[in-house]
Amino acid sequence: MNCLLCNAPLAYRLTIPDLVLLRPIQPPVLCQRCRKQFERIDSATACPGCGRPKNGRRLCPECQRWHQHYGWHLRHTALYTYNEAMRDFMRRYKFQGDYRLRQVFQGELSRQVQTLAADLVIPIPVTATTMATRGFNQVLGFLGTEEESGLLVHRAGEKVAQSHKTRRQRLHTPQPFELTNPVAVRGKRVLLVDDVYTTGRTLYHAASLIHAAGGDEIISLSLAR
Ligand SMILES: [Zn+2]
Ligand SMILES: [Zn+2]
Repeated sequence: MNCLLCNAPLAYRLTIPDLVLLRPIQPPVLCQRCRKQFERIDSATACPGCGRPKNGRRLCPECQRWHQHYGWHLRHTALYTYNEAMRDFMRRYKFQGDYRLRQVFQGELSRQVQTLAADLVIPIPVTATTMATRGFNQVLGFLGTEEESGLLVHRAGEKVAQSHKTRRQRLHTPQPFELTNPVAVRGKRVLLVDDVYTTGRTLYHAASLIHAAGGDEIISLSLAR
């Protein structure tokens, strides 16, 4: 077995807990050197709204503005900072389409999903165009499934890159999603999962549909922020 990022050979020895607990063995897919490039966010000191690192558990100015706009705000958890290693990882995974890389964070993300204990887990869908060119939904890959929930779908038309817009333009971006069965979210604790939290725009669009349909609690999770 070799590191999925730098191809260095990986040594893996069974540990005592592996043997005693008879747990499923998860051999590492990254070498220590590559693993160390990723910077974990400490949720104890992050913004409770967007997961921004080191905000001291206070709602950051961006989240305060989202709150003003919607009358509520997301409660988002992000696992890692979007540093250079993560940017490079995403480039290889999403844009070069190396589907093996889903394994790198699959375990951590799935454990976090379990910890958040939602009634419904809804991964943010990709557009039909992305599906046709990339061949997979990167979020589903992280969750270890290939099955779309089918509950949240893209409306006809294209998702436009959010990062080049001004804040005002972003707030008024038309809703790109629709809920195929709004009744299914009523009274539920819903977890939205995306790969990267950039401006929050995408997650807020999805969350506002669920909110309007009577979702009881909406939380969200991303690999990076
Ligand atoms: Zn490596
Ligand atoms: Zn925030």
